[in-house]
Amino acid sequence: VLSTMQDVPLLISRILTHGSTIHGSSQVITWTGEGEPQRRSYAEIGARAAQLAHALREDFGIVDDDRVATLMWNNAEHVEAYYAIPAMGAILHTLNLRLPAEQLVWIANHAADRVVIANGSLLPLLAPLLPHLKTVEHVVVSGPGDRSLLDGASVQVHEYEELIAGKPVSYDWPELDERSAAAMCYTSGTTGDPKGVVYSHRSIYLHSMQVNMTQSMGLTDQDTSLVVVPQFHVNAWGLPHATFMTGVNLLMPDRFLQPAPLAEMIESERPTHAAAVPTIWQGLLAELHAKPRDVSSLTQVTIGGSACPPALMAAFDKLGMRVCHAWGMTETSPLGTVARPPAHAVGTDEEFAYRLTQGRFPSGVQARLSGPGGERLPWDGESAGELEVRGPWIAGAYYNGPDAEPLRPADKFSEDGWLKTGDVGTISPDGFLTLTDRAKDVIKSGGEWISSVDLENALMAHPDIAEAAVVAVPDDKWGERPLATVVLKEGATADFATLRTFLADEAKIAKWQLPERWTIIESVPKTSVGKFDKKVLRRQYAEGELD
Ligand code: ADP
Repeated sequence: VLSTMQDVPLLISRILTHGSTIHGSSQVITWTGEGEPQRRSYAEIGARAAQLAHALREDFGIVDDDRVATLMWNNAEHVEAYYAIPAMGAILHTLNLRLPAEQLVWIANHAADRVVIANGSLLPLLAPLLPHLKTVEHVVVSGPGDRSLLDGASVQVHEYEELIAGKPVSYDWPELDERSAAAMCYTSGTTGDPKGVVYSHRSIYLHSMQVNMTQSMGLTDQDTSLVVVPQFHVNAWGLPHATFMTGVNLLMPDRFLQPAPLAEMIESERPTHAAAVPTIWQGLLAELHAKPRDVSSLTQVTIGGSACPPALMAAFDKLGMRVCHAWGMTETSPLGTVARPPAHAVGTDEEFAYRLTQGRFPSGVQARLSGPGGERLPWDGESAGELEVRGPWIAGAYYNGPDAEPLRPADKFSEDGWLKTGDVGTISPDGFLTLTDRAKDVIKSGGEWISSVDLENALMAHPDIAEAAVVAVPDDKWGERPLATVVLKEGATADFATLRTFLADEAKIAKWQLPERWTIIESVPKTSVGKFDKKVLRRQYAEGELD
């Protein structure tokens, strides 16, 4: 039986229209590195997004489903592109500016991007790629940077401000099918070749509503959110969309992502919320210890992308910055779980342990655990298996070019269409997910599994250790054994015997799990989105560089 409700599509243009009118005075504040930051109201963003859409349509002939790429930091113009491109019916493709050149070229060609909107500061990266980008016709440049780097380029080059100047400040946004493509993002390839995920208007809309729920980030127009997680990393975890629904002010760091400018922008712009991967926060913590700043405004910090080390959560708690741990991936838009402790645990000894889990699934995400033989495992908090998820903002396939059928590789999607996350863990009876490892990082020692994450967290709780990454290395007797690579804090002297004893006695790591291979490194290699790059560590070990 049909309902009697209106059938109104869930569209990005609705979020933009809502944000730029109802919350027209909310602001996108972009850090400029010197003097006053740039401040732009949501109303202005709405007008400029309309102007950009006119330019893309009328000057470049961008039509439905054409891909328009961005190679940009987090800033106001990037937010304008976030709205203009999908709202007009085209597809926003955020390029990850930290990827190696050949991967960027592969991705842009694979997506068949027609236009690249780039920040001037990134032209040294873009210019040498251009001869290899087969489908790009136009480059639009915004913000400071040396334009002469594009002299002689075979594409047409435009200045962002000149392009949009004089265009109408409103646009008759089309009434699209809510299931049509709105934005695309390639996985950062931590564990393999990049794969394209194409989000729909509907998936982004529903995901944004979830981000806004009290049990998720739960921000309001009294908040300012410092969005450190890049806009090219899974849509900055949905923040630029979610905030336009609620009027949360956005504080955008542009290219100033080092600990010192981050500390400075927190002190002067007084955000109440911030979001980033753990490595960013480790850096900020060291900065604040070296040079204390007033960070009292910042009361909520969303951490995800890799497991939050307990020591980091405890240190942030001490500074009054309450960490909220969350799990997700490119394929899950990304919000998959959020670790808000259940009511009965708040204020008790159990609370911290709940906050350290990856969190609970929201109503829009169904979850199940799959054992080694594909059998369903119970939610008993003990049975560990691969996490599989399903829901309206979870990918069901990968992009395979504009005219090809999407890809559904059997190692990523179950026969009944669930996403196989590649993450291994347990789920408690009350729905809290605890990830022990990535399937590819887990150490398989003599038929038993050792969690690399557990060892890392235990090591990072030692006062002498700044960072620690543990990888599996081949072992004649056991198949694989853990190799601990540690970065010591300045002036620290702990030796391996001490660290081993610490793991056994303080962190209660079982004897058979204790690493016998150790090495001190300068820093842990990081991926394009700031995670530990274990592929590199494994390769370095194989090539004898870590002995
Ligand atoms: P990539 O797979 O290239 O690293 P993603 O950003 O999509 O790119 O990474 C998703 C993966 O990151 C997840 O599958 C999981 O392994 C890891 N991850 C994300 N959040 C967490 C978290 N809170 N704890 C542990 N691992 C996490």
